[in-house]
Amino acid sequence: MKRLLLFSDDQLWVRHTPEGPSCLFDADPAAFALTEPLPAYAAEEVFAAESAEPPAPGAERVSLRALFDLVTPQRYAQAGLARQLLHWRRAHRFCGACGAPLQRHATERAMVCPACGHTAYPRINPVVITLVARGDRILLTRKAGGLLPFWSLVAGFVEAHETLEQAVAREIAEEVGLRVTNIRYAASQPWPFPNNLMFGFTAEYESGEITPDGVEIAEAGWFGRGDLPPLPSRVSIARRLIDAFFTLA
Ligand SMILES: [Zn+2]
Repeated sequence: MKRLLLFSDDQLWVRHTPEGPSCLFDADPAAFALTEPLPAYAAEEVFAAESAEPPAPGAERVSLRALFDLVTPQRYAQAGLARQLLHWRRAHRFCGACGAPLQRHATERAMVCPACGHTAYPRINPVVITLVARGDRILLTRKAGGLLPFWSLVAGFVEAHETLEQAVAREIAEEVGLRVTNIRYAASQPWPFPNNLMFGFTAEYESGEITPDGVEIAEAGWFGRGDLPPLPSRVSIARRLIDAFFTLA
């Protein structure tokens, strides 16, 4: 019997076990329409698959963000990979060059076109996210649209033919009208919502007045340890950069 991580849209089925919450189910991958083998982890054979129906009595749907608090970091990383690969498979049924149905590559994790040879690999979109410091205070922003109940760091997609550092400087200039200096790489994090790779940076304020662009960013300000607003969850690299700054400060 194989073990499966089962998704319903972008949520994962989770069941309660005597050992705690588990997102693994014993089933035959062939019973599911879309399945994807995952790299071996702890000598298990695990597949990602989709299931609209509960795979076991009492199973509940949990968002990937919420799963972070329920399982080990290794299992959470595996679930993130699973979601990313299923999203890729769903979005690569047909060739982007000639429109023919794609087939699974014989040896690589890729989809290949039998008509024109075009090969599609799992796509990753690079995103930069930056903690900007001004003395012992940091720049936090609240997104426009009012959807998120917390403040976070400036982030944005890297554009074609741009270095990561150039993307950091451009995003900060565009979204809040500031110039920064001393841009330094800090850490990275896969962010499977659905297929981003976050590059975390730190930078220092150089010049300018905070001017939220009103499109991406509704409000922005400088915050110190004693007056922090609601922050992103510990699952995010944003929170790790913020926590690291105030631990070291
Ligand atoms: Zn083709």
